[in-house]
Amino acid sequence: MARDYYGILEVDRSATENEIKKAYRKLAMKYHPDRNAGDKTAEKEFKAISHAYSVLADREKKARYDQFGEAGVKGSGGGFDPFAGDAFDLSDALRTFMEQGFGGMGGFGDSFGSPRRRAGQQLRGSNLKLTLEVTLEEVFSGVEKKLKIKRYENCEVCHGEGAEPGSSKKTCPVCQGQGQIRQVSRSLFGQFINVQSCSNCNGEGQIIDRLCKSCGGSGRKRVSRTISVNIPQGVDTGNYLTLAGEGNAGEHGAPRGDLIVFIQIKDHKYFVRDNRNILIEVKVTFAQAALGTEIEVPTITGKANLKIPAGIQSGKMLRMKGKGLPDVRGSRKGDQLVRIQVWTPSKLSKEQRTLLEKLEKSNGSAPTERIGKGSFANLSAEI
Ligand SMILES: [Zn+2]
Ligand SMILES: [Zn+2]
Repeated sequence: MARDYYGILEVDRSATENEIKKAYRKLAMKYHPDRNAGDKTAEKEFKAISHAYSVLADREKKARYDQFGEAGVKGSGGGFDPFAGDAFDLSDALRTFMEQGFGGMGGFGDSFGSPRRRAGQQLRGSNLKLTLEVTLEEVFSGVEKKLKIKRYENCEVCHGEGAEPGSSKKTCPVCQGQGQIRQVSRSLFGQFINVQSCSNCNGEGQIIDRLCKSCGGSGRKRVSRTISVNIPQGVDTGNYLTLAGEGNAGEHGAPRGDLIVFIQIKDHKYFVRDNRNILIEVKVTFAQAALGTEIEVPTITGKANLKIPAGIQSGKMLRMKGKGLPDVRGSRKGDQLVRIQVWTPSKLSKEQRTLLEKLEKSNGSAPTERIGKGSFANLSAEI
């Protein structure tokens, strides 16, 4: 059975505005793509709850939905319905999320242009989406990237109008220039006046006498563009940037959609990322662990020295303060955490064997406590 908007948000039909907002916030945090990178089920759920919320948070739409169900808020024209004619997609869901002031969780919608609304009957161009791979070194410093995209832009011959230069427009014979078609229908609830955009003239009331030869009358053309985008420090997989107005142009000169860039962090040769911290494993010999030493380890900014204290146990984590990554809000950097592993040789020379046998006989290598809980108890505290 299809869930209704209240069911999707897990609230009662009697829920207050505040309760609906709270419920949406809770679910949006759970299913937000920032927290569920690549999870299609979560994305679907995020879209569903955002769509439901966009209706129930709007008093007029909610009233219509309560009375007439989905038919009351879908495709009935009249200029108030932002969803008429196309599906509620991820960028719409993200926009709903942003517009509710919840955008501080990881998206950058606020810093890259404000959300845009669709103008009346004119359908905005579609959004473009792409995934951009970023290395950990680039996460550290921030980076400007050049993106090669293909998008629709206004035809330069007809300036998006779709009419051959010099030709004139004439009144649409289907709607007599009204741009709308009214239909009266009756139902259980009474008489409806259903106003729909005229499909012959796309709601413009006029049709083109002669189509532009260059674009075939659509008013737009597909072109390749290189767009530069500043990737801020500290980004992570699942973050996205919205470049307002850098998507496809709409037909007949309608405004452009957005370009949404999803960040994907590239796998590193040595480093494992844990939010702002960088994890790395380093092997030392038994002698180095027992005697203590100083070793060179790679960090995100180059090689650095690390002191290994004498008597260190295998598996111990050493902290290199401030050698981690910044976060997107520019607060202090994380640390690099180095897990020391004592390496055991699998082949021994005759001399090594003799020396180790001597060491074993001297009882110098026996642990004081051989059996115990070890480091399991404070595994998380170490990190
Ligand atoms: Zn043209
Ligand atoms: Zn018409």
